[in-house]
Amino acid sequence: MQLLEKSMLAAAQLVAPFSYPTSFERLDIDDNRAVWIEGTPDYRPTPSLRGTIQADLAIIGGGFTGTSMAYHFSQRYPDKKVVLLEAKTLANGASGRNGGMVLNWINGVEDASPEMTRLIYDTTRGGIDLIESIIQKHNLPVSFRRDGSLVNHTSAERAEYAHHKVEVYNQLGIPIQFLDKAALKKVIDIQTATARPLILLRGS
Ligand SMILES: Cc1cc2nc3c(=O)[nH]c(=O)nc-3n(C[C@H](O)[C@H](O)[C@H](O)COP(=O)(O)OP(=O)(O)OC[C@H]3O[C@@H](n4cnc5c(N)ncnc54)[C@H](O)[C@@H]3O)c2cc1C
Repeated sequence: MQLLEKSMLAAAQLVAPFSYPTSFERLDIDDNRAVWIEGTPDYRPTPSLRGTIQADLAIIGGGFTGTSMAYHFSQRYPDKKVVLLEAKTLANGASGRNGGMVLNWINGVEDASPEMTRLIYDTTRGGIDLIESIIQKHNLPVSFRRDGSLVNHTSAERAEYAHHKVEVYNQLGIPIQFLDKAALKKVIDIQTATARPLILLRGS
């Protein structure tokens, strides 16, 4: 047997147990009791799928990722049949329990190159633009505010570093402001921010 065939067979044997499960684990997903759910209109999920269904695209999970995929795919390919399968209800997972903040940047990505910094800013801002345009296009009854975000640095060293970063970002054309204590007080009065410099990021 050729080496390539042998390797493929070995790989297939490795994958096989995962490809063909003999039994299915029952998902134990708790109900979403987040504060967001309280004010929403009565939502009755469609009955559970029984039997077989044909579709061009099957999406598993009705959170941001799944619903966004279903929405954009349907917009792009209106003739294709899309099925979205959700174990509980839409937004029952993290998408219906989060902080509701629509922010620039990517968590954990710090000190990227100037080009990457600009790309991340443009891309995440583009995402926020898109969310706003979808809300407007479909006249969605949601509370969406776009008035920037605030990062409060409570250590002088971190605030100093943030001040430097703001200057770098401004050179890249990214509209972010640094506010010291007095300037910040005109925007918002944070009691704990007594003696330390603070930063206001107007990124979105
Ligand atoms: C506490 C918290 C705060 C956050 N705050 C923010 C924030 O302020 N801003 C922000 O941008 N992001 C925030 N996030 C992150 C954000 O909420 C997630 O990145 C996002 O919701 C992930 O969406 P998702 O669709 O990938 O996953 P999920 O929303 O978790 O959706 C997955 C869905 O798949 C379903 N599912 C799972 N397995 C199956 C199966 N086998 N069959 C069928 N359905 C299945 C689940 O029931 C669920 O509904 C926060 C996250 C948390 C946890």
